[in-house]
Amino acid sequence: KAMSAQVGLFKSGDVYNLNDEINVDLAEQSLLNKLIRNNLVKSQNQVEVLQRDPNSPLFSVKTFEELRLKPQLLQGVYTMGFNRPSRIQENALPMMLAEPPQNLIAQSQSGTGKTAAFSLAMLSHVNPSNKWTQCLCIAPTYELAVQIGQVIEQMGKFYPEVKLTYAIRGNRVPRGTTIEEQIVIGTPGTVLDWSLKLKVFDPKKIRVFVLDEADDCQMLLLSATFEDSVWRFAERVIPDPNIIKLKREEETLDTIKQFYVVCKEKEDKFTALCNIYGSLTIAQAMIFCHTRKMAAWLSGQLSKEGHQVALLSGEMMVEQRASVIQRFREGKEKVLVTTNVCSRGIDVEQVSIVVNFDLPVDRDGNADNETYLHRIGRTGRFGKKGFAFNLVDSQESMDLINQIELHFDRKILKLDTDDLDELE
Ligand code: ADP
Repeated sequence: KAMSAQVGLFKSGDVYNLNDEINVDLAEQSLLNKLIRNNLVKSQNQVEVLQRDPNSPLFSVKTFEELRLKPQLLQGVYTMGFNRPSRIQENALPMMLAEPPQNLIAQSQSGTGKTAAFSLAMLSHVNPSNKWTQCLCIAPTYELAVQIGQVIEQMGKFYPEVKLTYAIRGNRVPRGTTIEEQIVIGTPGTVLDWSLKLKVFDPKKIRVFVLDEADDCQMLLLSATFEDSVWRFAERVIPDPNIIKLKREEETLDTIKQFYVVCKEKEDKFTALCNIYGSLTIAQAMIFCHTRKMAAWLSGQLSKEGHQVALLSGEMMVEQRASVIQRFREGKEKVLVTTNVCSRGIDVEQVSIVVNFDLPVDRDGNADNETYLHRIGRTGRFGKKGFAFNLVDSQESMDLINQIELHFDRKILKLDTDDLDELE
């Protein structure tokens, strides 16, 4: 579902602190998204389909009936509360279920129904009277493998002839036995052990392979993000794929009022922050810091002032992070202090105030425009108004403001926090 990669690599330098290097694993992000989401993310976004064979008719479905699923599977789908295919499923399912099997690369944001789609595809392709492994799905981590397995188990609830097992650490199988489960879901290392070393299933008999390399079988590769390196990998490994992409809605700065405040040092920034916060009848605010240390300090200060603060920090376990985000979403805390890396990929739509306690910079020390946009930008369709405050404490950070202004061609106004009448 996601490939391990490092994001948010920081270089040491005066503004940085090496101790705060946090490498957020994309797999962990994917898990986080699964933990904080239990509903389909509705998307009207455009779907792009690049077909391997442009002459074969493109077909998409609006109902699950049209897919001619086995009745047991249709029942499973409906019991899960799915009434109709999601946007990505409309196109992906016909391709995933087509005969002869076709390879597919699909990209759409997390929560849009990819897991459900390939789970259904695996269940559909199984021949239950064959007591050997026919479908293999490789997930990047133990936790994700378990999550995906649970979806398959739920969906296949009325189809008990089809069995599933987990090739994950701790799940031991004696060498020389051959497993009868038709579906194996696991992590790369254990799957390799099972297939090559212990030979508990025969990779040649795999008919559906979700994410990984193999020949002569259907390959489905799914992810919320595809970095260039992943595309290159996919193209090398997957011959003649169909490709489905769901475009992400563009974020814009048009509905955001942007300000900067000149401060001396962090205490001064803290005072400015309190002034801003006190003068607005605020719904919810997110505050971004550059380092964990700064985030911890700031949330401590804010709590002392009597604010209800949530802190999202890199050393937290993914479950902890999910619960912090969930609580904030429910409005249990009004302020969320976070470092950048922690908050990537998290959308909290109701937040109307974003404070850059530290400005986002890339590894060369230049303004990180993309992160800036992601922090404060809104999607046009949700077009809610918002405020962004940038706290500036040096010539370098002033330069960053200028770079950002130039990049987006949008004014960032100077704000005097001793006189905040102009805000409302
Ligand atoms: P992804 O793999 O893209 O992150 P999932 O397959 O995990 O997305 O789906 C996200 C959520 O939406 C899950 O809770 C899933 O049960 C639900 N879901 C998936 N497909 C549908 C559908 N067609 N109708 C309603 N809910 C769905």
